[in-house]
Amino acid sequence: MISSFYPPQRTLMGPGPSDVSSRVLGALARPTIGHLDPLFLELMDEIKELLQFAFQTDNALTLPVSAPGSAGMEACFVNLVSPGDKVIVCQNGVFGGRMKENVERCGGIAVMVEDTWGEPVSVDKVEAAFDDHPDAAILAFVHAETSTGVESDAKALCALATRRGALSIVDAVTSVGGIKVCVDEWGADAMYSGTQKCLSCVPGISPVTFGERAVKRINERTHKVQSWFLDMQLVMGYWGGSSKRAYHHTAPVNNLYALHESLVMLQDEGLDAAHARHRHNHLALVAGLEAMGLSMAVDPDYRLPQLNSVVIPEGVDDAALRSALLNEFDLEIGAGLGALAGKTWRIGLMGFGSNERNVVYCLNALEAILQRQGAAITSGKALAAAHAVFSK
Ligand SMILES: *Cc1c(COP(=O)(O)O)cnc(C)c1O
Repeated sequence: MISSFYPPQRTLMGPGPSDVSSRVLGALARPTIGHLDPLFLELMDEIKELLQFAFQTDNALTLPVSAPGSAGMEACFVNLVSPGDKVIVCQNGVFGGRMKENVERCGGIAVMVEDTWGEPVSVDKVEAAFDDHPDAAILAFVHAETSTGVESDAKALCALATRRGALSIVDAVTSVGGIKVCVDEWGADAMYSGTQKCLSCVPGISPVTFGERAVKRINERTHKVQSWFLDMQLVMGYWGGSSKRAYHHTAPVNNLYALHESLVMLQDEGLDAAHARHRHNHLALVAGLEAMGLSMAVDPDYRLPQLNSVVIPEGVDDAALRSALLNEFDLEIGAGLGALAGKTWRIGLMGFGSNERNVVYCLNALEAILQRQGAAITSGKALAAAHAVFSK
């Protein structure tokens, strides 16, 4: 007989999902109601309003896609890219590669602008790509590259797209809640995020927002959107502003309770305070890691506070270390991806998980296992270095 599944209480300090608070888990367990129940429709309106706050936008077409971040990405591409469209895609990590896949599956032509993993997107290179391809219809890039821990200049890239008459599609899966995201101020045309990174909600939902120019592009399409499920014209019948809401699909009711709760928490804390908290805990973690003799893989000018890439020291067994953290400390950190596999760890300090306790816990656990592996680190200094930052 198969019996119930009881997961252990892990501390999630990888690239997501991040630690979910008991407040959000509690919301998830509230009674399920119908997805067309008048009370649920009121909740949907509040979620839209809270998402507009999180994205810093007045965009009417702002809603949670009922599937993870990858579906939000796909929703932006399938609705905005028509066959034959040229799309400039920036790649400086894993997720730019997925954007290219999306463009090509929509029948578009991807013009790649590549940067080294661990570096931000070069605005100059994108400028040059527009010079070579003045007919490019869209610019797509990742704001916070979770695979490397790098922030790119979203404001400059969105402004560049607008100047060149192209729409921008921005991946803000790891950004929202952790660092500044301003859809309206930047003039971003389409943006998607995820619930399980800095919003610290359960995985499975992808907030998206489309601006006026993007909505116009969608309304002017002559070619049906290739995905029935993600076709915004159809989804709007359910999530749209009018009071007559029609069945499109069954919304993940309880997941949306959880998202609502996590957004209320963000609203109560305030965006600036949430960003400052992420920064503060990041600086403490870095101080501790450096005091131990470890070094960061990304330049401080464009390091993400919510995703810390650390260089794995010579002679350390990466896989053994991560499994010891998991098995002995119930602590998950991320492995390096792609070009950085085996070379870096990715330590997440995302959302609810960005707190002093996690910084201290992670430093202690890392130090213990590194010492046991005989790594050349400095012992006994990390906590004091982190505390020096906390007490500032
Ligand atoms: C996690 C992530 C995604 C994909 O989100 P899923 O919820 O895993 O589908 C996309 N882009 C970035 C930058 C991410 O960090």
